[in-house]
Amino acid sequence: MTEPFDAVDIIRAKRDNTESLTDAQIDWLVDAYTRGVVADEQMSAMTMAILLNGMTRAEISRWTHAMIESGERMSFAKLSRPTADKHSTGGVGDKITLPLAPLVAAFDVAVPQLSGRGLGHTGGTLDKLESIPGWRASLTNAEMMAQLESVGAVICAAGAGLAPADRKLYALRDVTGTVEAIPLIASSIMSKKIAEGTGALVLDVKVGSGAFMKTLDSARELARTMVDLGTDAGVRTVALVTDMSVPLGRTAGNALEVRESLEVLAGGGPADVVDLTVALAVEMLAAADRPAAEADVREALADGRAMDKWRAMIAAQGGDVDAPLPVAKETETVVAAESGVLASLDAYAVGVAVHRLGAGRVRKEDSVQAAAGIEIHVKPGEPVAAGQPVFTLHTDTPERFARAHEALKGGWTVEPERAGAAVLGDALASDQSVVLDRIG
Ligand code: URA
Repeated sequence: MTEPFDAVDIIRAKRDNTESLTDAQIDWLVDAYTRGVVADEQMSAMTMAILLNGMTRAEISRWTHAMIESGERMSFAKLSRPTADKHSTGGVGDKITLPLAPLVAAFDVAVPQLSGRGLGHTGGTLDKLESIPGWRASLTNAEMMAQLESVGAVICAAGAGLAPADRKLYALRDVTGTVEAIPLIASSIMSKKIAEGTGALVLDVKVGSGAFMKTLDSARELARTMVDLGTDAGVRTVALVTDMSVPLGRTAGNALEVRESLEVLAGGGPADVVDLTVALAVEMLAAADRPAAEADVREALADGRAMDKWRAMIAAQGGDVDAPLPVAKETETVVAAESGVLASLDAYAVGVAVHRLGAGRVRKEDSVQAAAGIEIHVKPGEPVAAGQPVFTLHTDTPERFARAHEALKGGWTVEPERAGAAVLGDALASDQSVVLDRIG
């Protein structure tokens, strides 16, 4: 087959940034890369040129379209209920999908949640759920449809047929320092979500040290770009920009996060996890045309309706809902040296420490420890006494403790009561919400 373009010409055009890429150039480049005609080193140069020079709205839209066209498109049109999905750009302690999917399903909206695994310092939903004995992440499309009809919620791995161009490109970006390009993140996420065929989509765009986006401005730009892509494709799309400078909740690590999610589904759990779960559920229900008041959504956590859906959802995928979760062989605590107020707790430091304890993988083919992770006993603004545990570290392989302690060093500070209050300032005074902005 003769190729209509030369990859080097397209790379030069983006490198020199003198003219926009044409639809035909983008379609060919994405397709030829998926076929193996454009080499990894050529696509690496291209993604770096995109990271440095950006893309126009028309280019991002066509790039997303080309990634969707690289694979199959699913449709939920035959389901008897509307569908709504949510996607988080990734964070530390972000277990929100676990209580959120059954909570939204309790309001008769189907939730087809195609999720991923953790890579780098961020956790992955599938790794968390695999700590439940027997639970299975891989479903056929037919099994997924049947579960959406019978239970109303499914969390599973995206099949290999969905946006294969993204699968290849994401792995390349991960090893070439080009993950953080807004056009590439936006097209990566939205190509999968549009190909999946959800009717409504709520995006949780994280900002802060534990997120890909470090500033509010860049998170807003990413959110706006994704909302535009979704809306143009006929998906009702809304984004919440949420704080990821501090870990969510009081646990990070696979089984530990399942345990905390169960607390939320039992009507308890940390306030930040509950508040964000409820805020996202309210948005998903509104986007799916089944609006519900915040108080009603909270009630569905308190009265066990969401827990009933959770049990059905986990059991449908072979999970033993009553089996004990794995517990780490070894634990160590980190204690405060002086009394005062916890003034800071850095999400990135905690994410790296959790990863080093064995909860994450270094290479895609590594396995993860279900029980590894960190319990956080004190959150910013809370008092702490000298000698009191601030963290409990969990792992099956105690030789990992030293490097986890190293990661945590400098990642948290204790200030005397008054100075601590001054450092926290308005955050302490106003009990600041994790939701920083809404775009859509
Ligand atoms: N999640 C994705 O699926 N893709 C990205 O590029 C970043 C986060």
